[in-house]
Order: sequence, then C-alpha cells, then structure tokens
Amino acid sequence: MYDVIIIGGGITGTMLAYKLARYDLKVALLEKENDIADGATMANSAIVHTGYDPEEGTLKGMLNVKGANQYGKICKDLDCEYKVIGAYIAACSEAEEKHLDVLAARAEKRDIPYRYMTRDEAIASEPNLSDSVTKVLSFPTTAVIHPWEVAEACMECAINNGTELYLNAPVTGIEKTENGYKVLAGDKSFETKYVVNAAGVHAADIYALISDHTLFHTVAKRGEYYVLEENLNFVDHIIFPVPSDKGKGVLAVPTVHGNVLIGPDSSVIADPDDNGNSTQGLSYVRENIFKTMKNVPLNRSIRNFAGVRPSTDQKDFIIEESLPYFINAASIESPGLASAPAIADYIIEIMQMHGIFTEKTDYNLTRKAPVRLKNLTDEEKNELIKNNPAYGKMICRCEQISEGEIIDCIHKPCGARSIKGVKKRLRPGMGRCQGGFCEPRVLEILARELHISPLEVVLDSPESRILESENRA
Ligand SMILES: Cc1cc2nc3c(=O)[nH]c(=O)nc-3n(C[C@H](O)[C@H](O)[C@H](O)COP(=O)(O)OP(=O)(O)OC[C@H]3O[C@@H](n4cnc5c(N)ncnc54)[C@H](O)[C@@H]3O)c2cc1C
Repeated sequence: MYDVIIIGGGITGTMLAYKLARYDLKVALLEKENDIADGATMANSAIVHTGYDPEEGTLKGMLNVKGANQYGKICKDLDCEYKVIGAYIAACSEAEEKHLDVLAARAEKRDIPYRYMTRDEAIASEPNLSDSVTKVLSFPTTAVIHPWEVAEACMECAINNGTELYLNAPVTGIEKTENGYKVLAGDKSFETKYVVNAAGVHAADIYALISDHTLFHTVAKRGEYYVLEENLNFVDHIIFPVPSDKGKGVLAVPTVHGNVLIGPDSSVIADPDDNGNSTQGLSYVRENIFKTMKNVPLNRSIRNFAGVRPSTDQKDFIIEESLPYFINAASIESPGLASAPAIADYIIEIMQMHGIFTEKTDYNLTRKAPVRLKNLTDEEKNELIKNNPAYGKMICRCEQISEGEIIDCIHKPCGARSIKGVKKRLRPGMGRCQGGFCEPRVLEILARELHISPLEVVLDSPESRILESENRA
C-alpha cells in the first residue's frame, strides 16, 4: 500500500516527489513515457519568472512569487544550473508604457525588484533593442534554468530517499477502494491513500477516470521556437514585449547553455500531443521578434521545437482536493515552471489537512551533478582520464562530451534509457552538427551499457527503434 501515487513526471510531479522525500511516506511516481520531463517541462522558455505578471488574487500570482524565491537554493542543493540574467519588458507605445506601470505596481506589492529604464539606458546594455522601443521595465532578479535538469535532479534525489519511479506506466484506470484508490498503469496496479494528478495536458483525462463530473476542459496551446547557435553575443537579458491577453508574446531568451531561444507563439491545437512545428507558428515568431529587437541572427538557427501548454478553460492553476484524498494539479501553464516549488508545498499543505506527515530522520535533499569534463581544469581532466580512460574518449565534439560522462548518465538513478534521454541529460546532439557525428556512437554505448542489441536502442519511446535490421553478417 502506497501513501502517495503521483501521476506525471513533469516538473510538477518530480518537484512534489522531491519535497515529499523528507517525509516517512511510501511514494511512487508513474510516468507514461520512457523518461521523465517529456511534456511541457521539456519544451518551454526556461524562465524563472519573478511573479509580476499574474493577476492579483490568483494562485498563479501567489505561487509564482513563492516558487521563484526558492529556485536559487533548490538549484544549489541539487547542483543544477541557475543563472540570474535579468529581464527587460520593452514598451513600444504610450499604451504599452502605461501597462508597464501596472506590472511595476504588482511588483511593488509583491516585493519584486524592478527598475524603469529610458530607451537610452536600455540600449546602452542591449544595443539590439528595436528602434520602436520607447521605455523598458527591468526585472533584474529574473533567472533561467535547465528545466529537464531540475526535474531529473528532483527525481534522482527522491529516488535516493526511497521514492519509486515507474516509466512506461500510462495510467489507464483509477478505482475507489475502501482505503483509498487503486491506480492501474500498464500491467501494474498500485493501492494508495492519496493520488496526485500532475498529468499536464492529460490531467482532464486522468480526472475523468475517477469522476463523471467534469471540472475543467483541456485547451492545449502550442508554442514554437527557434534555437540559435551558441555564443552569438547579440542579447544578454531576456527581452519580452509588453504582455497582452494572448500571453507573454515572442521573447529572446539567452539559455544557461549560451544558445538563444526565439519564441514562442501561442496557438490552440486539437491534438494535445502534437508538438510538431508549423509554417504558421514559425512565421509568427519570425515576424514578431522584430517588434522588440533588431539584428536577430535567425539565419544562425540550429533547430526548431515546440511545447504544448497544459492550459484549460480555467484561467488560473487548478490545485485542489477534488475528491477525498485525490488532488488535481491541473492547468499548470506558465508560470508553472517558476511556481513548481510552491505548487509542491501547496499540494503538501492540502494533504496535511488530513494529518501531519512525520519527517524521516535520515533524508538527504542534496545531490551532486555528474562530472562535466568541459568544466574542469586541464589537471583535473588529466587526473580523471588517468583513472578512467573513458573520460578521454570524445563522443560529442560540438558539446565536448566524453564516453565516461555518457556511461555515468546511463547508470545513475533516473538514468537515460534512450538517445533522447542521453541528449536531455548531457546535450550530445544539441550542438551545430545536431547529432550527425555523435548519435551512432551514443547508440553503441547505450546498447553496451544496457546489455541490449543495437537494434533495440530507441530514440525516445519504446516503439521508436532507430535501426531496422542488420544488413551485413
Ligand atoms: C511554450 C511554453 C513556454 C513556457 N515557458 C515557461 C517559462 O518560461 N516559465 C515558466 O514558469 N513556465 C513556462 N511554461 C509552463 C511550464 O512549462 C509548465 O507549467 C510546466 O512544465 C508544467 O509541468 P507539469 O509537470 O505540470 O506538466 P508536464 O511537464 O506536461 O508533465 C506532465 C507529465 O504527465 C505525463 N502523463 C500524462 N498522462 C499520463 C498518464 N496517463 N499516465 C502517466 N503519466 C502521464 C506526461 O507524459 C508528462 O510527463 C511554458 C510552457 C510552454 C508550453
């Protein structure tokens, strides 16, 4: 019998698993995919918004500020990337300047640092702001993270403290039992006291498995991006247009890895799992980035991607005990990433209304990130390679990743099981050649380390085999 079953391994589910790890509870996280962080958590702008945007009186407003304030410490404890780079909201008209005042008033009330900048002040630090920008509101404490890294680190830490992770475990049935719920996932069934539905864009489907009463409808909204190559040095801050009813608009976001993201658009899609790119979405991004910026080197794009916002017909996050001991964490659209630590706290508060959880005596909520060769000095590299020559064999030349690092990322808790899993954890294939050189080598390493045939190695899902058959004896 489990105390808590978490459905969904995005940032909401993994952060909750991390925060529950301090308590004396039997917890399992069920994820339908072959890896965690494969939904919205994989494809977003990666910004820890400070919390000036959500409207007054909303859960979003409250949890964004509280969540953002925790990220620095959490990333330090989990040895994850966290870069405070600051955000500029660029107004281009008198009406937009007025809206800056609304955002500044919210920031003032929520104790979020901000500063107005004249056009001249702003272009002194961001010379590629467009000629139409008239005034800027700066939020200097805005940070960027690597969302998959945080989700993975949370899961790894939770596993180290006893949490169970089940991948390829799509929840297909939930039944009420005398003591709680029975959750059916693949060929397994889990008896539990609490269920937390953190299934992102499928949260409404999960709730429909246990209740005929519809509380919310999914309105999946896709956002598309360009990823520009590293070190182009044309923008240092996150550049936002003034937000509107349609959302935060098309941004330029310098990532923790030195690339710049340009996007997203926002279009409602019929299939919530459709995270492909479209001509219309990318054209919208191309046209609209020039509202706030000029000289954007879109010709240095190395790839496009799209993420699907787990939005619903409700404007706010839905985080509530919808049935006894059954908690929905739905409609977690932006700023869901920034809010995740506070969303987890809020869910735990709801659960503890039934009784306070006992803390374990021996939990550890820190972890050390695996070694990254490219961050070491020459002496440190030499020492490492002397002890293990696999660190001396370069597999990804663009991102400088060795065989030793790939082996580590396969064998650690919540390790990689697929080409995409390795890519998410270490970035081989994220450089200029986009996997042309390293992918076959990663495939060989996965086959060897997982003790499977190369024909069984998958790109992502268990069905996505890469090799068809052997063509030579
Ligand atoms: C384009 C875009 C830009 C964004 N930018 C930002 C930003 O800059 N800052 C910010 O704060 N927020 C941002 N967000 C929002 C943020 O990404 C989301 O709020 C957050 O990732 C939601 O996390 P989640 O865990 O709730 O959902 P998800 O990450 O979608 O995770 C849900 C998980 O549930 C699993 N699942 C679904 N059905 C089942 C089932 N039947 N059984 C088992 N598992 C199941 C899925 O496979 C998935 O892994 C953005 C979102 C998008 C799409």
